[in-house]
Amino acid sequence: MATVKQPTAHDASAGSQAVRRAAVIGTGTMGPGMGAVLARAGIAVALQDVSEEALERSKAGVGLADSVLDKLETPRVEGGSIRYTVDLKDALDDVEFVVEAVPEKLELKHDVFRALEQHAAADTILASNTSGIPITKIAEACEHPERVIGTHWSNPPHLIPMIEVIPGERTSQATIDAAVVLVERVGYEAVIESEVPGFVENRILYAIMREAVDLVDRGIIDADGMDRCVRWGIGYKLAVIGPMELLDMAGLDIYQAVGSYLNKDLSNAGEVSKTITDRTAAGKLGMKTGEGLYQYTPERIDELRAERARKLVAVRKALS
Ligand code: NAD
Repeated sequence: MATVKQPTAHDASAGSQAVRRAAVIGTGTMGPGMGAVLARAGIAVALQDVSEEALERSKAGVGLADSVLDKLETPRVEGGSIRYTVDLKDALDDVEFVVEAVPEKLELKHDVFRALEQHAAADTILASNTSGIPITKIAEACEHPERVIGTHWSNPPHLIPMIEVIPGERTSQATIDAAVVLVERVGYEAVIESEVPGFVENRILYAIMREAVDLVDRGIIDADGMDRCVRWGIGYKLAVIGPMELLDMAGLDIYQAVGSYLNKDLSNAGEVSKTITDRTAAGKLGMKTGEGLYQYTPERIDELRAERARKLVAVRKALS
């Protein structure tokens, strides 16, 4: 794998405050992949967790993410490294950027952000990977909310090259600019958006999920048919042509004509489908319990994980 030079603090492409050191707080599902991506871009990363066990487990997660980055042929920029610590003060030593990935509970995020302000330098950017808690609410715990921002990575973070950048009401322009520079430096798309429940990517996903489950519930199509229809129909297409581009490609007159009768017929259910709530109550949670909408053996789960990772790498390489 080629090693490329780290941008210097004077490098215009790196922005005025090129991040040299960063910390990722919380090393569960998301933290290890985020750390691996940042380290690849030449950043000395500290992974911090309150749980020794989670930190130990995260080493395998970082290794896996790093091997995927190898397959993606992501350049390894010199200066990048990863270290592991349970000590928050140690993790925050001299960092310019910190991203929090602890569980999605407002009180916990408040505790973490208070501690971040206490131990990080005054100009360190404090980012949250929250899936939907308003950044303005998270920043309420801080004396300097202007340096608090949402950087919402998509799972798996080492594979999905898009990060939603969400300023809170009091986030400064300098913080937004620095977050965008960092996202672009790791080779990802930075998408800036205003605060809205669920943020944009999940709103689109949940709109699709609601309609998909409703059609299966109504017996219009079975689960397998739904998955094949979406993967090879809109899924395949949307990876190349975004919805706004698709409107122009199809013609706004067509959308207006179809939307004028179809929009009224689409699901607008305010509650989650009974199919989902019943299965959840019965402990049928999907791959993690061996049954959800489909059934899985442990061997099939391993096969599916490997196959999906391989295909995501291939698709991303083909689209890059
Ligand atoms: P997770 O539960 O898998 O991991 C959280 C980790 O944080 C655990 O290892 C836990 O020990 C640690 N932790 C708890 N309290 C802590 C503290 N005070 N200081 C340091 N570490 C602490 O969570 P996750 O799925 O990685 O999600 C993290 C954040 O990212 C959440 O806000 C979540 O909504 C968001 N997110 C998750 C996904 C996803 O698919 N899992 C996707 C995008 C965003």
